[in-house]
Amino acid sequence: MNKMHVYDMIVVGGGPGGYTAALYAARAGLDVVVLEKLSAGGQMALTEEIDNYPGFEAGIDGITLAEKMQQQAERFGAKTEYAQVERMDLSAVPKLLETSEGTFYARTVVLATGANPRELGIADEDALVGRGVAYCAACDGMRYRGKTVVVVGGGNSAAADALLLSRIAKQVILVHRRDTLRATKVYHEPLMQAENLEFRWNSTVAELLHEGKLTGVKLKDVKTGEETEIPCDGVFISVGRKPATELVRGQLELDKSGYVAADETTRTSLPGVYAVGDVRTKPLRQVVTAAADGATAVHMAEEFLSGGA
Ligand code: NAP
Repeated sequence: MNKMHVYDMIVVGGGPGGYTAALYAARAGLDVVVLEKLSAGGQMALTEEIDNYPGFEAGIDGITLAEKMQQQAERFGAKTEYAQVERMDLSAVPKLLETSEGTFYARTVVLATGANPRELGIADEDALVGRGVAYCAACDGMRYRGKTVVVVGGGNSAAADALLLSRIAKQVILVHRRDTLRATKVYHEPLMQAENLEFRWNSTVAELLHEGKLTGVKLKDVKTGEETEIPCDGVFISVGRKPATELVRGQLELDKSGYVAADETTRTSLPGVYAVGDVRTKPLRQVVTAAADGATAVHMAEEFLSGGA
């Protein structure tokens, strides 16, 4: 890499928001590179089947859709560098990004770093990852074929994970701290109909029971305080996401949950820096909304590069 090269745009993160930005930028004739630490797709690549992205009438798996988005952007000249971003100076001119593969410079930056699974924050959670504690049913579910698993959470992720696992595991116990699901209605009926799925309402996981690997969980009823032990082989924690904003903390305005403050324009508190997809404040975090953000960011960046706001 030419160390002094200044890109028109650096996209940080190769999920659907990132690669849509790269596609639009490349088609607009901008010199654009995507910095991706592992492989294309972000959280999308962990999704077994995506049925709500238009154009794929039979559904598509996340990895394939990610590859298609990458190839489409690269067809128009977007580049991908597999590099972990370690530090950014977004106020510098040009903007500077230090990575595992050297320093990159650009006139504009699109942040598409997404959000990672949130942890429960209970004792031994970290130590038991891969030994009974998991955060992604699409990735780790197959290990629990014919076994008993607990899913924690009441949102769309927990509902989707519980349904997926009900087709693999012997028994699924969905533990939610309230008495109704937050998940959209589309999940309710299939969940009620799954014969091997039971609900534990008003309950939280108080303790992970283990002997080297997970053997069960201790649940606490949030209303009565009563504790019960449930033997199980795995616990899937699906309690939401936390935005990947560590690298921009102190540089960009964040909202109270830590997401980058940016409206529909994707503009952040710094000129020439745009936030797309799950990492920004928004009402609905989906592949389709991330992709839309990517297109908008390039539109705004083109205005900026031509001397506008
Ligand atoms: P979410 O909608 O924020 O739901 C998180 C769930 O976890 C809530 O039910 C919450 O309980 C519970 N929770 C949070 N912290 C907890 C804790 N410490 N202990 C126990 N429970 C806790 O998160 P998500 O389900 O991961 O979804 C994230 C985004 O991705 C959403 O915008 C969602 O729509 C989207 N998504 C969509 C799909 C789809 O449409 N197919 C699939 C997956 C994700 P409360 O209800 O009490 O707050």
